[in-house]
Amino acid sequence: MRQTLDFLLQDWLGVASLLSRPRFADHSAEIFASVLDTCERIARDKFAPFNRLSDTQEPHFDGERVHLPQATHEAMAAYVDSGMLAAAQDVDVGGMQLPCVIEMAANAFFSKASVAMGGYAMLTSGNASLLMAHGTPLQREVFAKNQFSGRWFGTMCLSEPQAGSSLSDVATRAVPDGDGFEADPLGPRYRLRGNKMWISAGEHEITENIIHLVLAKIPGPEGKPVAGTRGISLFIVPKKLVDERGALTGQRNDVALAGLNHKLGYRGTTNTLLNFGEGKYPVAGRAGAIGYLVGQPGHGLRCMFHMMNEARIGVGLGAVMLGYAGYEVSLDYAKQRAQGRPMTGGGKDPTQPPVPIIEHADVRRMLLAQKSYVEGGLALELYCARLVDELATGAPDAAREAGTLLEVLTPIAKSWPSEWCLEANSLAIQVLGGYGYTRDFMVEQYWRDNRLNMIHEGTHGIQALDLLGRKVVMDGGAGLQLLARRIGATIERAGHVEGLAVPANELAAALQKLGAATKAAWASGVPEEALANATPYLQAFGHVVLAWLWLDVALAARRPAAADASFGAGKHAAMRYFYAYELPKIDAWLGVVSRREVLLREMHDDWF
Ligand SMILES: Cc1cc2nc3c(=O)[nH]c(=O)nc-3n(C[C@H](O)[C@H](O)[C@H](O)COP(=O)(O)OP(=O)(O)OC[C@H]3O[C@@H](n4cnc5c(N)ncnc54)[C@H](O)[C@@H]3O)c2cc1C
Repeated sequence: MRQTLDFLLQDWLGVASLLSRPRFADHSAEIFASVLDTCERIARDKFAPFNRLSDTQEPHFDGERVHLPQATHEAMAAYVDSGMLAAAQDVDVGGMQLPCVIEMAANAFFSKASVAMGGYAMLTSGNASLLMAHGTPLQREVFAKNQFSGRWFGTMCLSEPQAGSSLSDVATRAVPDGDGFEADPLGPRYRLRGNKMWISAGEHEITENIIHLVLAKIPGPEGKPVAGTRGISLFIVPKKLVDERGALTGQRNDVALAGLNHKLGYRGTTNTLLNFGEGKYPVAGRAGAIGYLVGQPGHGLRCMFHMMNEARIGVGLGAVMLGYAGYEVSLDYAKQRAQGRPMTGGGKDPTQPPVPIIEHADVRRMLLAQKSYVEGGLALELYCARLVDELATGAPDAAREAGTLLEVLTPIAKSWPSEWCLEANSLAIQVLGGYGYTRDFMVEQYWRDNRLNMIHEGTHGIQALDLLGRKVVMDGGAGLQLLARRIGATIERAGHVEGLAVPANELAAALQKLGAATKAAWASGVPEEALANATPYLQAFGHVVLAWLWLDVALAARRPAAADASFGAGKHAAMRYFYAYELPKIDAWLGVVSRREVLLREMHDDWF
C-alpha cells in the first residue's frame, strides 16, 4: 500500500507543488514523508495488533462506567502524542498546517490498522475544527484547543431515535437558561432536553471530559419550534462543566448514558444513546443540560455541514482502507494456499501437486476486482482531498473550480467506496473460502466494520438523492459540465497513447451516456420520476468517475519516474479490469434512469 500511496501522492497528484503555496512554505517533501512514516509506524505498533481485541472486548457499561481495553487508551495516547489531532490547523494554535491531502493520507494508516480505534480521533478533530470555524474566540480557546491537544475528546450529536436521515425532525429542545443567559462568557447559555441516538464516542474514560456538539431547536415566540432544518441550532454541551479558563468546575452536566448500542462491527468505538437534561445530574438543582450556542440561532445544520467535505472524504477513505486491509490478507493467502490443479488440454493431472490458488483465473478475478476497487478508491479520496487544498489555498479561479467539483464528487467520495470496498471485503472472504468465514482471519471483521459506511454520514439512498436531486442540476449543471471537461482532458491525453486509446474511447462513450441519462431523468421535470432511480444513477456516476481516475492513474504509471515494471503493469491490469468487467455495468443502471422506470413508484405496499 505504501508504494501505491506514495505514487499517487507524488507522481499522480504532484503534491510537492503545494510547497510553493504560502500556507505550506515551511514544509518540504521530507517533512511530508516523515509524517507518513510516523503515522505508519504508530498504526503498525499501537493500533493493528489490538484491532481484533477492540472487537472481541467490546465496550462494556457496568451501569456506572464504560470500560474499554487498555490498548485503546494506549493507542489514543500515541495518536495524541503524534500531534495528528491538529494536523491541518494553523501553527499558532498548535497545529502542523499540513495540507488536507497529507493529513488524509497519514490518517489512512490508522483506518487500515484499526478503523474503530481511529474513530475517537476523527470525531475529536472534526468537532474542534468546526469550533475553529464557527466558535467565538473563547469557545475556540476553551473547547477547540483542549481537543486539539487531546486533553478532551469530542462527539457529533445529530441523530435521534426518530430523526436519522431527516434531521428536520430533531426533537431536542433548547431554552435560554435564565435571564442572564446571554452574559455567559462561554456563549449564550441554554438548557437542553432530548435524546440523541447512535452517538459514537459518546461515553468513555479515555479523556477527563467529552465535548458534545449537539443539534437542538430553540422554540420560537409562540413557544413552538420552527419547523424544518431552519429551526436547528448548534450547542457545545460538555459532559463535565468547565469555567472560562478551561478548568473543570467539579460539576457534572446533565448528560446521562442511557446505554450502549451493540453493533455488527466498528465495535471498538463506543456507540451510545445519550439522554440530555433528564435530571439525572441536575445543574444548580434543576434538570436540563447546559449548552452554549455556537454561531447564530437556526444556523446549526449549516455549521455542522461546514466540515462535510472533509468528513465525507474521511468516511470514504475509511471504507477504502478496510477494503485495502482485506485485499492484502487475501492476496497473501492466495499465494500460500495450495488447492486444485490447473486445467490443461489433457484435463487435470492428479499426480501433480496442487497449485497456489492465485494461479486460478477465478481467484485472479477476485483479486483484481479488489485491487481495482481499493486502489481506485484511494485515488478518488486523495483526489478529493487535493481539491480541498485547492479550495483553501488555490488561486481564485482554481479554488472556485475545486469547490464546484467537490460539490459533485463528495457524494461519490462517500458512497462509492462504501459499496465497492465493502464488496472487496466480501471478495476477500471468498478468496479464503471456509477460513474466510471464521474468526481465525481478520477478513470477516473488515467486512463487518465496513458495513457501517453505507449507513452513517448520509445513507446510500440519501447520497443518491443529493447527487441527482441537487448536485448535478445546481447552477444549470455547472458541476457536471466541469467534471466532464476534466474527464475529457484525460480522454484527450490517453487517446494518443498506445494501449490507452481503446479505454479512452470507452470512457468517452460512458460519459456521453451519463450526460444523456441525466437529461432523460429530468426530462419531465417531475422530481418523483427522476429521483425514484437515484441509487442506480449514483452507482453509474461513481463507476464513470472511477473509470476516469483509473485511466488517469494508468497514464501516470507510464512515466519514467514510476519505472518499477511490475508496479506499472499492475496498475495497467487493474485499469483494464475496471474497463472490461465494471464499466459495462453502467448500461443496466442508466437504463432504468433514462426511461424513468416506473416500477418503484407503482409498487403497492400490500404487493410485498
Ligand atoms: C455505528 C453508527 C455510528 C453512528 N454515529 C453517529 C454519530 O456519531 N452521530 C450522529 O449524529 N449519528 C450517528 N449515527 C447515525 C447515522 O448517521 C444514522 O443511522 C443515519 O443517518 C441513518 O438514520 P437512521 O438510522 O435513523 O435510518 P433512517 O433514516 O430511518 O433510514 C432507514 C432507511 O430508509 C432510507 N430513507 C430514509 N429516508 C429516506 C428518503 N427520504 N428517501 C429515500 N430513502 C430514505 C435510508 O436510506 C435507509 O436505507 C451512527 C449510526 C451508526 C449505525
